Amino acid sequence: MTDKNLTKNDLVTVDIADIGADGEGIGKVDGLPLFIKDAVIGDRVEARVTKTKKHYGYARVERVIEPSPFRVQPACGFHRQCGGCQIQAFDYEKQLEFKQNKVRNHLIRIGGFGEHVVEQIMEPILGMEDPWHYRNKAQYPVGTDKEGNPITGFYAGRTHSIIANTDCRLGRVENQEILEAVLDYMKVNHVSAYQEETGIGLIRHILIRTGFASGQIMVCLIINADKFESLPDQEYLLEKLKNIPGMTSVSVNLNTRRDNVIMGDQVHTIWGSSTISDTLHIYGRGLTFKISPLSFYQVNPLQTEKLYSLAVEYAGLTGRETVWDLYCGIGTISLFMATAARQVYGVEIIPQAIEDARENARINGLHNTTFFVGKAEEVLPAFYERQSGNKEQVDMLHPDVIVVDPPRKGCDTACLDTMLKMAPERIVYVSCDSATLARDLKILCEGGYELKRVRPVDQFPHTVHVETVCLLKRDE
Ligand code: SAH
Repeated sequence: MTDKNLTKNDLVTVDIADIGADGEGIGKVDGLPLFIKDAVIGDRVEARVTKTKKHYGYARVERVIEPSPFRVQPACGFHRQCGGCQIQAFDYEKQLEFKQNKVRNHLIRIGGFGEHVVEQIMEPILGMEDPWHYRNKAQYPVGTDKEGNPITGFYAGRTHSIIANTDCRLGRVENQEILEAVLDYMKVNHVSAYQEETGIGLIRHILIRTGFASGQIMVCLIINADKFESLPDQEYLLEKLKNIPGMTSVSVNLNTRRDNVIMGDQVHTIWGSSTISDTLHIYGRGLTFKISPLSFYQVNPLQTEKLYSLAVEYAGLTGRETVWDLYCGIGTISLFMATAARQVYGVEIIPQAIEDARENARINGLHNTTFFVGKAEEVLPAFYERQSGNKEQVDMLHPDVIVVDPPRKGCDTACLDTMLKMAPERIVYVSCDSATLARDLKILCEGGYELKRVRPVDQFPHTVHVETVCLLKRDE
């Protein structure tokens, strides 16, 4: 506890002793912990206090007095301004350690698991050998500079002001050429950029997705209009884009909303195919997936292969199992499970993703799969209620394994409750947010499961995000 009166604008010298969950450095001044953006654990910094609360405060780095041995020169010149890579100034090994600890701490603090249990079951994080240019998807906001020229780049951290930069170190090098082509099209044809403040202007975002295995590229322009024809001079645009090697699909998405949601739900292909494909390999087996602009597809394919391999390993399949894959997207996990299970059921909320999943099952010849459109928390209970009168059906459809891979907010309680009622032998939880993961694991363990294995996978190098795979077994 402190009775010091640190106030806004004070200049302090701080030794950074810890890392916060968002990658910020933490150091104490007169017993008061300060959260300092862009400070690296091990640094001694001079920092300006920006805000104080009763038990902690915030500050920003004015000067690094003594750099930490874990501090590296960031590859990107925009690193400090950009909201994308929060920990690019950390040595990559240190980033991995940070993520391992983040998952560990969430399991202990939020999940209520004992320290020794966590020590025993947690396996070391799987990192990348070359943690750059790993993303297969990028969504660039479009705006204008002071002279009124169209620009694209990224949002400055925690704001919606766009900083022009077409050279992101996490994205494909090829994206730059595509972005320049779209900007040229806008300039030459006087196509306006969307302005968030006024809701006026046409082009909002440029989505680029690349199949790493296929080399196929998809470009989707998200426009502020209610019909596709509102995009003018499409021929000029297509002439530029279709000559870029790998270009496979060009589409337009309509979005007239005034909020932060990037894409609307209507897409129209204006050139080429409506999907691109990509192939992932696990345990020597390659499966090919078709991906629509609106469907979710893991952004780091190299790490996805490691992630899915773990999920399949944890599922422990022998060929006789019934598996449910909740939040299945385009059926990637479902189909890898289907190669080793008797029957797989997938559930996903986006209709287009389920269309992709069914098509993906067909092209890979995996006919032991059934996909349902809907919310996991509605489809699963409805299914359970419907079957529960009929003993024979219950037995046949009884899941041996349930896999869940929810978005950051985790599983809905109705979904967790039904999972507990359905009582599969094993649950494989794939998570992109260790805090909600820990919350849900607590519920599952209180409901009769035991946490057996946990392994983080670094899907998102240089950011604070971490993916985790867990295995739970039903208590005997
Ligand atoms: N397992 C897939 C997708 C994981 S991402 C993969 O690895 O590619 C999470 C998915 O859950 C997204 O496709 C999203 O559209 C879907 N989703 C979000 N909320 C949902 C809900 N309540 N019920 C079912 N699916 C949902």
